[in-house]
Amino acid sequence: MRTPVPDHLDDVLRECGAGGAEGEVAAYIPELAEADPALFALALCTIDGTVYAAGDAQHRFTIQSISKPFAYALALADRGFETVAEHVGVEPSGDAFNEISLEASGRPRNAMINIGAITAHALVGDASTTGEQRVERVVRGLSAFAGRELEVDEAVCASELGTASRNMALAYMVHAQGKLEGEPHEAVEGYIRQCSLLVDVRDLAVMAMTLAAGGRNPVTGEQVVPAWVCRQVLSVMATCGMYDAAGDWMSTVGIPAKSGVAGGVLGALPGQVGIGAFSPPLDEFGNSVRAVRACERLSSDMGLHLMQAPEVAAHVLYGVVEPDRDGDGVREVALQGPMHFAAAEVALRELEDVPEDGAALVLDLTRVTSTNDVGRRMLREGVRRLELDGHEVRVEDPDGHLER
Ligand code: GLN
Repeated sequence: MRTPVPDHLDDVLRECGAGGAEGEVAAYIPELAEADPALFALALCTIDGTVYAAGDAQHRFTIQSISKPFAYALALADRGFETVAEHVGVEPSGDAFNEISLEASGRPRNAMINIGAITAHALVGDASTTGEQRVERVVRGLSAFAGRELEVDEAVCASELGTASRNMALAYMVHAQGKLEGEPHEAVEGYIRQCSLLVDVRDLAVMAMTLAAGGRNPVTGEQVVPAWVCRQVLSVMATCGMYDAAGDWMSTVGIPAKSGVAGGVLGALPGQVGIGAFSPPLDEFGNSVRAVRACERLSSDMGLHLMQAPEVAAHVLYGVVEPDRDGDGVREVALQGPMHFAAAEVALRELEDVPEDGAALVLDLTRVTSTNDVGRRMLREGVRRLELDGHEVRVEDPDGHLER
């Protein structure tokens, strides 16, 4: 048997590529105007690090704005939430990616648009980090997310540096507001090197899955950034990642995402999959027309929308065996599935119905598939209260869910 997933990716590419390449290849960075508009690739990375790819998956392109969430992640990991939040906000801007989107306090609105991304780049490392060391840290950090050594496309980098007046202006604006650390020129140069890193769709899928897996690269096993950083980054991607089309994207695709002007799109669905897509022609918002279309298809075919309510809490109770049933005087309550707040609440309500007859009780967690911190605390508290009611409780927990 060959898994049908790669065939499905091929189908998505064929169907979303039909009808030619609508949209325009970005030309404001002269070197990007040379891109072949026919290129189209798609990749998907799973939580165990399996990567599926289709189309022009070997083709490398510059990461551009898709680097923004990762530099923001490194800044958060290096400086902590408070310091980063003093310099850059978390609100959608409603403006184009290269606008002067500042809050009244002088803080850029978010780190997914250029003005906030340049600010976030300048926060990587610590206050004594030089521009060169910062670029080094960014290249190493993004490489750790991708699981391989990424390189700068020097031609694209030089081309963008030669036409960087607008980004320079943005950096000087933030600097004038007291929100940019260090020297504006140096921050823009570093940010442009960051945007010029070469990736392919597999890299994007692995980088996305690393974010979606709480910072642990599923291929290399490296914990690249702490889990709280990923939650913060994914939240900002969900609301600001697709620029002015963020609302439309969230309602149709429903996956935290980021696009770049070279034609890449990265999607990260927490706990499930990482997606990388690429096709150079862009729509009026600066998002790749066919990559967006492919993500829409994947999301609807595979049920990946984040707001699609999971069906779990209704099937928490696997079964109850009353003490007189098998004559051993022991009541057995068996739970199943993932134990988070909603599931544990159902379980505790079930345990509330246990009569205060002093019968011994077995809480069987054999079929519980996962627990989070809240689920564990709630079940432990349930056991404590049953014991206070005079029951002798034994927890059948071969996977050690309650011991974590
Ligand atoms: N390097 C590009 C710029 O700053 C990134 C923009 C983008 O990908 N949207 O203009």
